[in-house]
Amino acid sequence: MRYISTRGETPAQTFQEAVLTGLAPDGGLLIPEHIPRVSEHLDAWSQLDFIGLAQEIVALFAPDIERVTLDALVRSAYESFDHPDVVGLVPVGDVHVLELFHGPTLAFKDIALQLLGRLFRHILDERGERLNIIGATSGDTGSAAIAGVRGQPNIDIFVMFPKGRVSPLQQLQMTSVPDTNVYCLEVDGSFDDCQSMLKQTFGDLEFKRRFALGAVNSVNWARVLAQVIYYAYASLRLGRERPVSFAVPTGNFGNVFAGYVARRMGLPIDRLIVATNENDILARFFASGRYRRDDVRFTVTPAMDIQVASNFERYLYFHLDRDPALLRRFMQDFAETGDAALDRAPPIADFEATAVAAEDTLRAITKTYEQHRYVADPHTAVGIAAAARVPRSGPTVCVATAHPAKFPESVDSALGAPLARHPRLEALRGLPQRLDPLAAKVDALKHYVAEHCGEAE
Ligand SMILES: *Cc1c(COP(=O)(O)O)cnc(C)c1O
Repeated sequence: MRYISTRGETPAQTFQEAVLTGLAPDGGLLIPEHIPRVSEHLDAWSQLDFIGLAQEIVALFAPDIERVTLDALVRSAYESFDHPDVVGLVPVGDVHVLELFHGPTLAFKDIALQLLGRLFRHILDERGERLNIIGATSGDTGSAAIAGVRGQPNIDIFVMFPKGRVSPLQQLQMTSVPDTNVYCLEVDGSFDDCQSMLKQTFGDLEFKRRFALGAVNSVNWARVLAQVIYYAYASLRLGRERPVSFAVPTGNFGNVFAGYVARRMGLPIDRLIVATNENDILARFFASGRYRRDDVRFTVTPAMDIQVASNFERYLYFHLDRDPALLRRFMQDFAETGDAALDRAPPIADFEATAVAAEDTLRAITKTYEQHRYVADPHTAVGIAAAARVPRSGPTVCVATAHPAKFPESVDSALGAPLARHPRLEALRGLPQRLDPLAAKVDALKHYVAEHCGEAE
């Protein structure tokens, strides 16, 4: 299994190279040369627990890591979760809620980043190399990435967040971590500033090579791969008679794209419902075929306050029959004008998309609790509200991306009572924080990294 770029101008890579590379040098995203069909395994796979299934799936995509080693990495990643089945699959009215938030930082990003951190460590150990990870976060990614690599001797991690824009609890989840390989940078600017500093730093290929920069955002293929596991798990648990539909709260399109990969592999999956908040560029695209950037709106679901979804390019590549030239043209139009269009909208069989406004999200939290005594976080509630809108037959899974205690203000206000608490988060209050201020300038970031990182060469 080799990995190629959506833009078609990067030589094929092994899995290990793809994990270290992150974004392809031609600006594209790495994807497997072909997606394996697994239909003949489904009977056997439906007997496996989450970890057993995870081991089978990861092995298919990572043939260049010895199977015993891989199995141990996968086991260790998911033993860090505090649910006996790793993920929860809870009946709530006429849907099932797939709880992906039982990892160390209480958001679904742990599923991918606990594994990615271990993959990094193994690959770097083998090669005798080190990596400096730079990330930007508006909330959940930062703490999950830190939790995945804290304390590792061959990695330093630098996480930028916009000053005053992440919730106090989310900030504490990052800044209270005592490990000395973790650097939290409070940027005097917006999340967009952080992202553009990140992009420019990675765009400086000489700097990237010299300081061995690595990426943990969802352009990294290993993140998509880890997310395929729970689509397989839930669809095999519930879909032996009729295929399962999934409603997925969506920001960067990484989560729902993993569902698309799982369906192409032959897992029993029917509809994939792309549930966005008021930042509805994807909902508009799937209705019209036109991809047009708008201003970012701040909502009660901050992890989805995204206009340009980085993983969307992977889907588009498949939709354009894997023609890198067509894809390059679309992405170039979009980069130049913030507006690109297909001849017609993609078929509804690929994705159904709907945008959920804040008031409908909060109402879904209230209703879900009143009717079923289930407390959903706002992101999860976007999916629940979307599922209720889309006609479907067969079992439906609403993907729960965060524990409600991560967003206590919105949940408390929807329920009129403090029902969203978690002891691990309560224990953070008042802990000492480690962070450094950083000007919103790419040179300030480069200078900081050069001063603090372990030597790459
Ligand atoms: C990251 C995140 C999302 C969005 O996931 P994408 O893969 O970016 O679509 C949704 N909900 C929560 C809680 C998140 O942390």
